[in-house]
Amino acid sequence: MRALARSSWFVATALVVSCLAGCSTPRPPPPDHTRAPNQYKPHLLYLLPSPHARLYVEVDAVEGCGPKDAALEKLRGFLSQYCAKPDGIDIVRSDVIPIKAARGIAPRALARTYINGPQDATAAPPAFMYVLYYDFGLSRNFQAENILHRGARTMPVRRRHNSKPYAETYLYPAIYFNTRFSFGMAMNEILLHETGHLLGLVDRQGDARSGHCLNRGCQMNTHLQYFRQFRWLPGRNQSALCTECVAELGDRATQPPLPNARYVGSVLVRAETDYHVLTLPDRLALVVGSLTDRDCAEFATAMRPEKPDPADDGRWFLYCIVKDDVLKEPAKLGAIATRFNDDPLYAVRRGGQKVFLDACSRRYRALGQNPDIVETLRPKILKPE
Ligand SMILES: [Zn+2]
Ligand SMILES: [Zn+2]
Repeated sequence: MRALARSSWFVATALVVSCLAGCSTPRPPPPDHTRAPNQYKPHLLYLLPSPHARLYVEVDAVEGCGPKDAALEKLRGFLSQYCAKPDGIDIVRSDVIPIKAARGIAPRALARTYINGPQDATAAPPAFMYVLYYDFGLSRNFQAENILHRGARTMPVRRRHNSKPYAETYLYPAIYFNTRFSFGMAMNEILLHETGHLLGLVDRQGDARSGHCLNRGCQMNTHLQYFRQFRWLPGRNQSALCTECVAELGDRATQPPLPNARYVGSVLVRAETDYHVLTLPDRLALVVGSLTDRDCAEFATAMRPEKPDPADDGRWFLYCIVKDDVLKEPAKLGAIATRFNDDPLYAVRRGGQKVFLDACSRRYRALGQNPDIVETLRPKILKPE
């Protein structure tokens, strides 16, 4: 199922791709590095019928870690209850990842390697949700320093002694389910808890703390008591959300659809003036100029490592592609570069200008044109390190 061929388009434009490693500096990241900005609401793509009237859930699993059918049926029931998807919800088992291939590879690197995205290209594009079942003991990389549990959005980055199953909505919504965590107990309930995070729970003032519900017995109850809370849950009825959590989802259902975000295949795309931000696990791309669905497909292909690197864990990378039509108007380059300073994502604010100017410069050279305009802009725009 994996598309191995890299298109000639990407090879050609690889010349204008620049890359910035996010966490490679010894300086501690600023606080918002680990938190989603308020306006970052990809969960609305799951909850609302627009822009996606359908939801496609891809479930990958390392060999021996895959969920039972009953778990996926419960997931379907939960999503059907709260996601307004008139054209349906598909939950698709995809890759079974060989143990050998998963050894020492961090979950997000595995995700990038095995994400396929929706396979029915003829249908209207659905919202996309990714679930990876893996074995932390197998994937553990002792060089890795930390892991982010996004479900609790205020929780600091911490060392990974063990890894709870966790959901990330920032940067890229996905569930990473370490099947070793609960010794096989309460697996269905844990899956629904993490899915609740992907739907935006819990984000209210009352009865909530650190992204979790304080109501005893609620599916979204505090993560710190995770296992203790869940041990009595197996066997309960489908929905174990408390009335406040249900009401919170109900509030979201009345919100307007996101005007500038959507999924194209597996890629989460956000449109801004003059540029788009494309997101995959630990990878972002700025596409400056007009964006096509093909650009998104080629980004996903290009980010799929031929051979995942065990050291590739917890670092994000930012790429930039500049379309040739943008380069025809060099007078506008400065204004475009300045816009990155106001992007909601820290990654873009920190690295956007540099990767953009690098990409412009390389592309001008590739076209046989003089990149002086970019070099003139560089000292005016870039902040000192
Ligand atoms: Zn949680
Ligand atoms: Zn609750």
